[in-house]
Amino acid sequence: MKSLLSMKLTQASESPSTDNLSPAQRSHAMRQVKGKNTKPELIVRAALRNLGHTGYRLHRSDIPGAPDIAWIGRKLVIFINGCFWHGHNCPRGARVPKSRADYWVGKISRTVQRDTQNRQRLSAAGWSALTLWECELRDERVLNARLMSFLER
Ligand SMILES: [Zn+2]
Repeated sequence: MKSLLSMKLTQASESPSTDNLSPAQRSHAMRQVKGKNTKPELIVRAALRNLGHTGYRLHRSDIPGAPDIAWIGRKLVIFINGCFWHGHNCPRGARVPKSRADYWVGKISRTVQRDTQNRQRLSAAGWSALTLWECELRDERVLNARLMSFLER
């Protein structure tokens, strides 16, 4: 039986299909994926709620990389990365839109570079970071286990 979370995730991973879309449709899909409160973020926040981990702040721009989730006092942050946007080494991350491919490749490689720099700045300032990739959120139990091992130590 599919859980609600995995159904949400299925929808989320199907939404930004970049092929077979008009430019306007594609830029709409991209905006949705790039924005705050995306489906992957909501999945992680629901898991945190179920595990009883609250008290975090969202999208704090004063922390390097403006992490999606941050516990300020504990210096813990979670990044929830879209595979396309952040160049994940997975089939979904490897997909490049057919139109303006050079533009996307350049843009994504700059994002990857910026992500690396932000991780270094965070760790230099004593923060611990967990990166969750969109494609890794399908299995609720795996997600819970990763969240627990990051937060309950
Ligand atoms: Zn991925």
